[in-house]
Amino acid sequence: MSKLMFTAALLLVSSSTRGRGGTAAFQLYRRSSSTASAFVNARTTHHQRLSPGIIPKSTASSTSSPLSASLRDLLEGGSTRSSSSMTKAADEAKSPPAQAAAAAVENVVETTLPIKETPTQPVKKSTSNSIISISDSFDSGNGEFVSFNIADGEEDYTDVIVHVNIKADPFTDLEQKSHFQSFSFRSSVNFNSPAIRGIFSDKKSIKVKYVVDNANEASYADAWNGASIFVTEKSTPYDADSWHRTSDTNYEKGVLSWTHVHDLDGESSSAYFAYFPPYSYERHLGLIAQCAESEGARVFSLGQTVSGREIDCVKVGTGPRKCWIIHRQHPGESMASFYAEGLLNRLLALDDKWDNVSEKARELFTFYIVPNINPDGSANGYLRTNAAGSNLNREWCPSPSPPSADGSSASEMYEAPTLHRSPEVYYLLQHMDESG
Ligand SMILES: [Zn+2]
Repeated sequence: MSKLMFTAALLLVSSSTRGRGGTAAFQLYRRSSSTASAFVNARTTHHQRLSPGIIPKSTASSTSSPLSASLRDLLEGGSTRSSSSMTKAADEAKSPPAQAAAAAVENVVETTLPIKETPTQPVKKSTSNSIISISDSFDSGNGEFVSFNIADGEEDYTDVIVHVNIKADPFTDLEQKSHFQSFSFRSSVNFNSPAIRGIFSDKKSIKVKYVVDNANEASYADAWNGASIFVTEKSTPYDADSWHRTSDTNYEKGVLSWTHVHDLDGESSSAYFAYFPPYSYERHLGLIAQCAESEGARVFSLGQTVSGREIDCVKVGTGPRKCWIIHRQHPGESMASFYAEGLLNRLLALDDKWDNVSEKARELFTFYIVPNINPDGSANGYLRTNAAGSNLNREWCPSPSPPSADGSSASEMYEAPTLHRSPEVYYLLQHMDESG
């Protein structure tokens, strides 16, 4: 991950006697030379205090079970990309597993269900294939099922190949593009499906190769070079310490891939994969509640985000110098949330470990710490933007408008921040002006 530089936290320090925007205000970008070391850094500062949990986003999944969906897939013969690719693989391949797959398909059709058209319902692609289900309907999830096929004579004994896409952020007007790069999704093996029993009946596990089809169109495709995708087999993706890096992530000729061995006998048949381990909104709220209970802090909301979440700010210290520390303008950088947790933990001695450095810092500064200025983008699994498609890092002041579609440069300025497009920055600057 050595190519990817990122901003873990943006510090804005201003003296109480001079206003922002002048020479007194300066920005200090905390950077890490590698994302790997940044994550280790975050892990060393965070303590396992908050119970992990899942806050599902509104789930618009099909009402049918994965099994019935898979049967329908098989029956409808090409109504989804998964079934067509599977049937094709079964027909064309000559390997015994593929023949078994074909037999399994015929078996299902002939013996278990009447041949009858069911009313056509839109079946969500990501939940409707017979061997692997891909889902991103959870806090911070992002990943879309594209297709799968039975591997035929693959190198390294891969059994199944699954193709996924990363979903793009809302369109960003100022940059005239839709960003994407970060992802996290769950992959489940439907080990009871007839197809998998037909093909892999003699196996205790299957090796799945994951391929991100649109990796080369990502905002920073170069960052895939040397990347290692994270994986956890826990039932929740929010147990940060359970994540580890895959050992065989590969980015070649614009294609990002890695493999994972799924057990077929139950316990660890499903796994989560992510560019970086997510930090849940529930954990954020828990941290804020802990700070609110701490004697040394005052918690208040700067205002609300586009989607109506509070923009929480923690005021710490009594010193004459004002120091604003904000995190996660870019929601894809979840390590900044772990950093914020470590910072608050130390400054407020949330773990009852008092130290002189924190005490001195609280004497010298009044800190305004915003653990997450973009909770909407974080929960939505975005890379760079808030819910309105604004890249908050570009919303601090007006800038020249982007060229119009015909290539001519516009004369008007791009107004920023605005309550409509970037309330997160708008409110933050308002409070910064008030605090001095
Ligand atoms: Zn950034």
